[in-house]
Amino acid sequence: MSECPTHGALLGGYVLGSLEPAEMDEMRRHVAGCPHCGPEADKLGGLPGERMYELWCVRGDGRWVSGGTFRTAASGRAEAMLTAAVRPGDYHVMVVTRHIDGEHGPALLRGELRY
Ligand SMILES: [Zn+2]
Repeated sequence: MSECPTHGALLGGYVLGSLEPAEMDEMRRHVAGCPHCGPEADKLGGLPGERMYELWCVRGDGRWVSGGTFRTAASGRAEAMLTAAVRPGDYHVMVVTRHIDGEHGPALLRGELRY
């Protein structure tokens, strides 16, 4: 499935819930009818439940800084409190990975941060 030409850049942030409220509303309407974003959001939306994950902030130089770990509910949804010291502008991307025995796996979700 090719990336959506108009809304592809917003999809990661939408799935992570990190967009502005107005953008979240726009994406909710868009994803419902878009042949690119709909299937992609289904694939990304929700992480397998009752597992540990780690939230990462990615700096401009590409370095990952851990923002803490969280556990998903059986539904695959979770809320996480970001604990990294974030100065506006330092980080532009957030990433979620599995967290197993203190080690992290590859990026499962990725979203742009907007300030
Ligand atoms: Zn789309």
